[in-house]
Amino acid sequence: METKTREQKIEELKRTVRNIPDFPIKGIQFKDVTPLFKTKESLSMLTDVLYEEYKDKGITKIVGIESRGFIMGPIMALKLEAGFVPIRKPGKLPAEVYEEEYQKEYGIDKIQIHKDALSPEDIVLIHDDLLATGGTMEAAYKLVKKMGVKKIYVNFIIELDDLKGRSLFPEDIEVTSLINFSI
Ligand code: AMP
Repeated sequence: METKTREQKIEELKRTVRNIPDFPIKGIQFKDVTPLFKTKESLSMLTDVLYEEYKDKGITKIVGIESRGFIMGPIMALKLEAGFVPIRKPGKLPAEVYEEEYQKEYGIDKIQIHKDALSPEDIVLIHDDLLATGGTMEAAYKLVKKMGVKKIYVNFIIELDDLKGRSLFPEDIEVTSLINFSI
């Protein structure tokens, strides 16, 4: 059986991402991740690369950000034998929540997490599909940090390098993305 290196797998995954110019508004190069999930080959390659990245970190909870963090989040949780916790938009989570505000392109948005979703022993991997300005993940990071867990890792499938979203996170936080694009 043919075995591919991590770099070969990432190159292949990168070629699978679909670029949609001017979506949802003019000037945006939209990176469509759905082709990564469409075939069993790319879904399993993506899962393998993510698993290899985090298998030795002792992760106990994957925190996924609504809604594209809900695709690979539970798959990674299952592979890493961890639990899955959703971060959602306001009004969706039924029990008591913590909330964080963040700046969107137009106006302010909020995200929430259940107060009892994480505990001090948890080693958490926060996952989303793509790092653009980083505003959404920064708010998620603050939420999880406030809950006083043991350690936090941050992961994206894709990073848009030129937007420098990575600079929002403290240096001691491991921020990993598999596929990098300059736009
Ligand atoms: P941000 O808070 O700016 O890092 O972006 C948050 C979310 O917006 C990402 O997780 C993506 O789901 C989406 N997003 C932003 N820019 C793009 C883009 N160029 N292509 C695809 N999705 C994007």
